Amino acid sequence: MKENEKEQEIQMCRHSLSHVLAKAVKNLFGKENVKIAIGPAIDNGFYYDFDMESITQEKFADIEKEMKAIINKNEYFKRVEISKKEALKIFKDEPYKVELINNLPEEEILTCYYLGDDYVDLCCGPHVENTSKLQGYAYKINRISGAYWRNNENNKMLQRIYVYAFPDKKQLNEYIIKIEEALKRDHNKLGRELEYFTTVDYIGQGLPIILPKGSKTIQILQRFVEDEEEKRGYLLTKTPFMSKNDLFKISGHWDHYKDSMFVLGDENKDKEVFCLRPMTCPFQYQVYLNKPRSYKDLPMRLGETSTLFRNEASGECHGLIRLRQFTISEGHLMVRPDQLESEFKGCLNLGTFILKTLGLYEDVSFRFSKWDENNRKKYIGSKEQWEKVQNEMRKILIDLDVDFYEADGEAAFYGPKLDIQIKNVFGKEDTIITIQIDFQIAERFNMVYIDSDGSKKYPYIIHRTSLGCYERTLAYLIEKYAGALPLWISAEQVRVMNISDNSLDYANSIYDELSKEGIRAKLDARNEKIGYKIRESLSQKVPYIIIVGEGEKDQNTISIRGRNNENLSNVKLEDFIVRLKEEVSSHKN
Ligand SMILES: [Zn+2]
Ligand SMILES: [Zn+2]
Repeated sequence: MKENEKEQEIQMCRHSLSHVLAKAVKNLFGKENVKIAIGPAIDNGFYYDFDMESITQEKFADIEKEMKAIINKNEYFKRVEISKKEALKIFKDEPYKVELINNLPEEEILTCYYLGDDYVDLCCGPHVENTSKLQGYAYKINRISGAYWRNNENNKMLQRIYVYAFPDKKQLNEYIIKIEEALKRDHNKLGRELEYFTTVDYIGQGLPIILPKGSKTIQILQRFVEDEEEKRGYLLTKTPFMSKNDLFKISGHWDHYKDSMFVLGDENKDKEVFCLRPMTCPFQYQVYLNKPRSYKDLPMRLGETSTLFRNEASGECHGLIRLRQFTISEGHLMVRPDQLESEFKGCLNLGTFILKTLGLYEDVSFRFSKWDENNRKKYIGSKEQWEKVQNEMRKILIDLDVDFYEADGEAAFYGPKLDIQIKNVFGKEDTIITIQIDFQIAERFNMVYIDSDGSKKYPYIIHRTSLGCYERTLAYLIEKYAGALPLWISAEQVRVMNISDNSLDYANSIYDELSKEGIRAKLDARNEKIGYKIRESLSQKVPYIIIVGEGEKDQNTISIRGRNNENLSNVKLEDFIVRLKEEVSSHKN
């Protein structure tokens, strides 16, 4: 069997199991008490949505047992074709099915499947013919979560039972171990426990509060990126967070991106309508447009640490990875055609330098994101223009020896992109850095330059990020290092603690000296047992602990405990400070 056929069969078995689950839940909780919605297969199993009394974890074993009983009866999945009218009769007590049926055209022939004689579900299949085919399958209820009917916040919240399902026990167990490992690194859990960030219901999804620890790390990253850009000839800009929608009409965002924007006001009622910016581009163009430009002014490299707003659906928001407001190392380069390749290379060098410094480079892949010719509405420009610029970009990527893959339909509306992709601990992929070639927008904004022969020309614009979104990068760093961030980006680098009151003054003097030397230290002078203080510091993943008691005080030394089990005593403070500074300046991971 071919790989994709095998995958299809697994998905069919998973989906078949979702009906077994629905039947089991009805058997256990009473047919009339359970209203069924839908139950698709997913990557690691399947889910089913129910409208019923709330199910607790204690019931999981009962439900799994009932599923087993159904499977062991070797029941048939019997396919029956029915008219819409018949369907409405069969499913009259199932309001969610009725809604689905009513949305179908009048003449539609529907299919329902009987699982045994006493259970029927509306579904187009396919399923296994008989539950005997599911005998070897290994499944385990993972969790229950709320899910709006049809993914719409205005609808009722249903209970979604997620189940892991794999062809055999070995694969299931391997998967569960992998997931448990991932959970330990999940930034959305660990990042909260370690006090990097939090969220507040009445502020909203996708709008995290970055706590002092996370804010410090982001500040360090931001300074690092801004300094690096300055070294590479970028000019800093500072532009507004919002604009009248007139700007976005010129840029094309109003026509091609409005659904993802926060719009303040209504064009039919208000004299002026404002939008929070989803991108910095059209603002930075104004810097270029501020005075006439000649070919000698190019390339012009503009950078800005920019806060952006995108109207993501609540359900799409995730931890620090998918947000409604985020801050990005945004930049735009206006370049002549003869400068395109070298400037593109400069952007790529900067991005890879930053990823390597952060230790994330080995985890990324390079996606050449192209347009989708069959979905022309999404893009501006002609087919010839797109093909020309995509060919140019492909040539640049090959020249630069980038190990890339191509993806249709992932381009920006104005041009193709090189997206540097990274996966989170659960394998979900997002973009961390992007470099885009835009051959169209300069004309829209009339961004001309006078070439050496006196003629007027439009520059290419490279849209790029050098680290991408700071919040998202923090998430990947937390996952990569399981919360133990490298010393140079750790908010707290050293925790000083005294063993007893007799060494408090000495601990204080150590703390003062570290602070004076620019080491980010904290003093734990609480009257607690030293073992307790050490454990707490280790659980918070503070890189180093300095422990001082009367012995250290008498000899004017310190003892050091590293979070990686390093244990040192009789160390001179000045020697340790030299070592810390070296570790920081070398950006050691
Ligand atoms: Zn089905
Ligand atoms: Zn841009």
